[in-house]
Amino acid sequence: MKKALIIGGGFAGCTAANLLKQKGFSVTIIEKSDVLGGGCRTFFYYGHPYTYGPHHLLVDVGDIHVWNYMNKYLKLRELKHYNMTFVGRDNAFYTYPIHKDEIELMPDKEKVHEELKDRPDVSTARDFEEYWTYSVGETLYDKFINTYSKKMWKIKNNKMLDEFTFSPKGVALKTGSKACFEGKKNVAYPTEVDGYNSYFEKCVEGCTVIFNTSVEKFDIQKKKVWVNNEWMTGDVVVSTISPDMLFNYQYGELPYIGRDFLKVILPIERITPEPYYFIHYANDEPYTRVFEYKLLTGYKSPHTLIIIETPSFNNKLYPYPIMSEINKAKKYISELPATVFSIGRMGKYHYDNMDVVIKDCMRLFEQL
Ligand SMILES: Cc1cc2nc3c(=O)[nH]c(=O)nc-3n(C[C@H](O)[C@H](O)[C@H](O)COP(=O)(O)OP(=O)(O)OC[C@H]3O[C@@H](n4cnc5c(N)ncnc54)[C@H](O)[C@@H]3O)c2cc1C
Repeated sequence: MKKALIIGGGFAGCTAANLLKQKGFSVTIIEKSDVLGGGCRTFFYYGHPYTYGPHHLLVDVGDIHVWNYMNKYLKLRELKHYNMTFVGRDNAFYTYPIHKDEIELMPDKEKVHEELKDRPDVSTARDFEEYWTYSVGETLYDKFINTYSKKMWKIKNNKMLDEFTFSPKGVALKTGSKACFEGKKNVAYPTEVDGYNSYFEKCVEGCTVIFNTSVEKFDIQKKKVWVNNEWMTGDVVVSTISPDMLFNYQYGELPYIGRDFLKVILPIERITPEPYYFIHYANDEPYTRVFEYKLLTGYKSPHTLIIIETPSFNNKLYPYPIMSEINKAKKYISELPATVFSIGRMGKYHYDNMDVVIKDCMRLFEQL
């Protein structure tokens, strides 16, 4: 029987384990923590379920492969995804992505309309700042994006983000429905109170999982990793950790920004106004987002859990959209031997949602 060795038992490691097992591999997973699921795992705080960062399943409309795959393992509840932003200079909450109709509510609407005329061609934008100012003009950029982005990435200048040609919410200036991704993505969440956890368990049924174990050393050209005082190997090795680690940081370390998550239970059934459950803070407050979890998880309680997210370097969550760093990651990945795959949020050094991780696993392992 062919062997697969997987580093990291997060969403990517578990999905890889499941698909490789179905291909007849005997699978071993090495996981640093004592649980599976990484950032997508549901934990509980005084009964309230939460994940580290809200984790809607977002699937392109019409992508039946990913949709059917997840539906095989979890009962999914479809949702509408509504965000708002607090804009301090207007002392107002507006829908995010910026909605064209809400410009009418702004004290400086004439200026905003003026700036929206004759925008430069956004396809010529060279960086994040140009992408946004070309798309929505200086005033809207300053209200919604400028400070938020500098805070989110802990940078002084948004021009540093030079690999940025899209809005994370799919559109810079919205018309029509105020729900995010409307008509573009199906948005869903598991009905089970523990979210995706049962999926992770099913993925690793029949596999060997070594918990509380970090991979310490790598001889990746020989497909060997040093674990618990011995070299381990596989016919296929799947890494979901940062590719610089596999090469002992030979070309330098890849930078990431992380998040601190502050949990707060409030003595009220619901805190965010219908239909919103996500608030962005685009001003000089230290936090970027506040999220009300029960509206995603469906948890019933007379109280509510919010989590306040503050950017930090305490963990590695978001790869920087900076060309030189992306090229460094590509160099590492290009030097991997043929049957070593580097997948997932860190493995690809690319912010990928869960649907992309599933698609990557389906594509990469198809030929094995
Ligand atoms: C704040 C936030 C919000 C998000 N929201 C969404 C969303 O709404 N929808 C969506 O689809 N996606 C969302 N994502 C993306 C989603 O989290 C990723 O697609 C997914 O986590 C990728 O899985 P992964 O296995 O690559 O990483 P992770 O889930 O982070 O798993 C990595 C695993 O590797 C383990 N590990 C790390 N180092 C080692 C080591 N040296 N040895 C062994 N094990 C190790 C970790 O303990 C962890 O279990 C969000 C991400 C963030 C950061």
